Amino acid sequence: MHDTILTTRRNLLKTAVFGAAAFTVSGPAAAEKTDGDDVPVCFSADVCVLGGSTTGVFAAVRAAEKGMRVAIVENEGFFGGTAVGGYVPIWHSLYDTTGKRQIISGLTDRIERELVKRREAVMKDPASPSAGAILNVQALSFALDSLVSANPLIRPFLHARVVAARKSADGRVTHAIIEDKDGRRAIAAKFFIDATGDADFAVQAGLSTWKHARTDMQAHTTCAILSGIDSLSRRRKDFSFGKILGRGGEAALGHSFWWGCEVVGCPSLTFFAGTRISKCDPSSADDLTRGEMEGRAQLKKIVDAVNRRFPPGKGRAPVAVAAVAPMMGIRESRHIDALYRVTKDDVLSGKRFDDVVARGSYRIDIHEGEGITFFYLDGRKERMVATENGKVKWEKSRWSAKDARHATWYEIPYRALVPKGSVNVICAGRMIDASREAYGAIRVMVNCNQMGESAGLAAARAVKEGLAAADAYDGSAIPAPGQAML
Ligand SMILES: Cc1cc2nc3c(=O)[nH]c(=O)nc-3n(C[C@H](O)[C@H](O)[C@H](O)COP(=O)(O)OP(=O)(O)OC[C@H]3O[C@@H](n4cnc5c(N)ncnc54)[C@H](O)[C@@H]3O)c2cc1C
Repeated sequence: MHDTILTTRRNLLKTAVFGAAAFTVSGPAAAEKTDGDDVPVCFSADVCVLGGSTTGVFAAVRAAEKGMRVAIVENEGFFGGTAVGGYVPIWHSLYDTTGKRQIISGLTDRIERELVKRREAVMKDPASPSAGAILNVQALSFALDSLVSANPLIRPFLHARVVAARKSADGRVTHAIIEDKDGRRAIAAKFFIDATGDADFAVQAGLSTWKHARTDMQAHTTCAILSGIDSLSRRRKDFSFGKILGRGGEAALGHSFWWGCEVVGCPSLTFFAGTRISKCDPSSADDLTRGEMEGRAQLKKIVDAVNRRFPPGKGRAPVAVAAVAPMMGIRESRHIDALYRVTKDDVLSGKRFDDVVARGSYRIDIHEGEGITFFYLDGRKERMVATENGKVKWEKSRWSAKDARHATWYEIPYRALVPKGSVNVICAGRMIDASREAYGAIRVMVNCNQMGESAGLAAARAVKEGLAAADAYDGSAIPAPGQAML
């Protein structure tokens, strides 16, 4: 396991469903149109969140808690993004690297505790660099539905894709244009949070973004749930995915890296992340199509190779793909050109920011070419390289002296979420402006979740006080370590 652990709606919405008679919901008869085109305005919000992963949902919830009418638009038919749609089940530790000081609270902590209570998540050692908790991602999906439907101020739009932004002459974004079953519709809002991962809305709003060349973007992974791995591992001590995936292996895919873990609550199933889609820019439609198909082809190749090399026998069924994640797991695509770019030194030195929106302790973790590189906050550096015999080799070194003082957590500043020139759009999630190394650490979900919460609070403040994006946040969303958020 490894980014971490190893081994292992029509026009007239039925307002009653959302308990929301207060909504301005318009149908085909509505006269309001966006300026300059025929797109009907289907909803008027204070805050519009584009993208509904945990990042986007947490942003929507925090803004609604401050009395905002919120629209949340999600391309898929469910909330949860990479976790639910990509099947990625690991949330990293909410503690600093000592495992003794809690640095992350808020909705991440609340949901984690709820799932643990219902035995839908299991906690790991808080000092582990690999995993803080393993979640049953379907349970997470149910929890996110509950969070959204519990707040009548939130109007969800599922199976809805944001395709354009409308702006007024002063540069303020006025509408998000979505396409869904009812065709092309507009959501009017005073403030927008782009949580699409790929910064789609920032681009549509004409804000500046950047990206690495395909060859330098982190690789992506199509994840799956497999059956039969547990019995195979029990009966064949010589079984390992490394042998199959590594150089010379039956399903050699040009890399040797894989990870997996249990599926909480489903003892006979195994989560598997062993595909690797490189040189793929998921913000390009053609690359995304190729990536999705390549991921599934790799998965089939791996499972077929496992069954060839370790044929099923008496009393043991073949290894089978029980489910393929509906979304390719995207590690990186566009980044925004923000007021600040987070650096490797900010992360490794644990730089403090007065506009902190998130704290984290996850190591720098870069999936590149054939290997993977880790920089730990405690000074260690590890690089995994493929060797000829199908095995992997970990090259271990240090980026700082053993006896040097090391930070036990780092901070992420609000200004890295604010695109240059933006009046009323901020971003939250993996499109954050960060150097290659810094990004390797801050991209994980416990960090993105906090960015979402802080962005929701900043958006609410901006709307209430009439503030511009750059001035909307006062650093107050994230409490001191050890203190619970809200
Ligand atoms: C294989 C893999 C393993 C990983 N392992 C871990 C791990 O163990 N732990 C960890 O914490 N992190 C891990 N990560 C990283 C982490 O999962 C992601 O960085 C993080 O989830 C990104 O969150 P996000 O909200 O920014 O984006 P996403 O999760 O990508 O969410 C974006 C959401 O926006 C929606 N969307 C996109 N475009 C549009 C549009 N135009 N209109 C409407 N909706 C749109 C998408 O459908 C999606 O729901 C892993 C990533 C991968 C790929």
